[in-house]
Amino acid sequence: MNYDAWFQCVQGCEERHELNEVIYRCPTCNSLLEVKHDVDRLKARSAAAWMSLFEKRYMRTAYPYGSGVWGKKELICPNIDNENIVSTYEGGTNLFWAERLGESINVPDLWIKQCGISHTGSFKDLGMTVLVSMVKQIISEGKDISAVICASTGDTSASLAAYAAAAGIPAVILLPRAKVSMTQLIQPICNNALTLSLDTDFDGCMTIVQKLAETPYFYLANSINSLRIEGQKTISIEIVQQFEWEVPDWIIIPGGNLGNVSALGLGFRMMQDLGIISKLPRIACAQSAKANPLYTSYLNKFTDFSSMSAQTTLATAIQIGNPVSIRKAIKVIEEFNGIVEQATESELANAAALADRTGLFNCPHTGVALTALFKLIERQEIQKNDRVVVISTATGLKFPEFKVDYHNKEQEEVKPLHRNLPVELAANYDTILQTIDERFNN
Ligand SMILES: *Cc1c(COP(=O)(O)O)cnc(C)c1O
Ligand SMILES: [Zn+2]
Repeated sequence: MNYDAWFQCVQGCEERHELNEVIYRCPTCNSLLEVKHDVDRLKARSAAAWMSLFEKRYMRTAYPYGSGVWGKKELICPNIDNENIVSTYEGGTNLFWAERLGESINVPDLWIKQCGISHTGSFKDLGMTVLVSMVKQIISEGKDISAVICASTGDTSASLAAYAAAAGIPAVILLPRAKVSMTQLIQPICNNALTLSLDTDFDGCMTIVQKLAETPYFYLANSINSLRIEGQKTISIEIVQQFEWEVPDWIIIPGGNLGNVSALGLGFRMMQDLGIISKLPRIACAQSAKANPLYTSYLNKFTDFSSMSAQTTLATAIQIGNPVSIRKAIKVIEEFNGIVEQATESELANAAALADRTGLFNCPHTGVALTALFKLIERQEIQKNDRVVVISTATGLKFPEFKVDYHNKEQEEVKPLHRNLPVELAANYDTILQTIDERFNN
């Protein structure tokens, strides 16, 4: 069976554009494009048949279908030849039952979707595999693309650099100077991307990269390019699959540029269209209080939206004041009976640290989502018997400074409640025994 997908304007302008065209906005009204699928043709296969196909492929070795993204190829991007697919076996990430954390907050059916257990350590790999594969396809068709480019708060660039290097395509990265972690900065450097560290913030990098992308020789890899959103859609499908095709009650996700929350909504909608699910979860999007334009708009019932100048936050990957996917995200929040919450610096750092004590190792953005979880439980929006999934967007291993500074009490505006410092001792049996005793027998 041949499936089909194309770009079309989110505002509904009729013109269709092939996915191998280098195009990011509607030529008629300048709105973003989204990938549309021939849903009628997809529906010709029954829901049961789709589910069994996905089960058969999930995490097996038949390339590229063992990838969490490409195992759902027909629903994501059917029009790429398998030989052009650039995959690192993304997806298939652990859905962690947060038993101890859940018990401690009286919501025992609590799960953390560990999207950061991935090739470059964040969920960005899910979208990047689709985008870079399409670039490889376009190049194989004879079109002249000299480099893939992106602006980044750190994780997009790490992902783009890795996939581009795997494909042998040059990559140019624009980063805000001193606003990304050491690990995030070193990843594109190791992958030999041209890494430009600029004296501006993310929104400033974004303005420049969009100007660069006006020439067709630079292919833009930011989430303004909806191919990335397609890959990220698989987060929803994979969660439902991991629950034996049952839909959880709540999904909590941190949001910056708001592509990921948009993708989450699209994934659930598509499963509903295909009859795979019959209910939808509620979605909560969580922002840093230092970069909260969606939250502010939510407070006035989305009657207006203004971008802002994002302030410095520990949640660097969501330090974004002018989110490109704002319209898509508002639509998802409205359609999923959603809620927007925010977290202060102290709240996000303590939430991450508290969860770490139950065996996790959370990035600051996951701390933002966990804060929203705690607040929604407190407000009784989330009830004791609800099944809740928190999307962890990156591994804490990418944010070593965040972890070290917290325990060293060196974070502005943070009052650390869960510090744990190494105890420096002489190598003496008795003192050691006494120290252990003091810690655990009091
Ligand atoms: C990109 C990113 C986000 C935010 O995703 P958006 O699609 O920009 O809303 C959150 N957490 C981490 C770790 C990220 O890399
Ligand atoms: Zn349009």
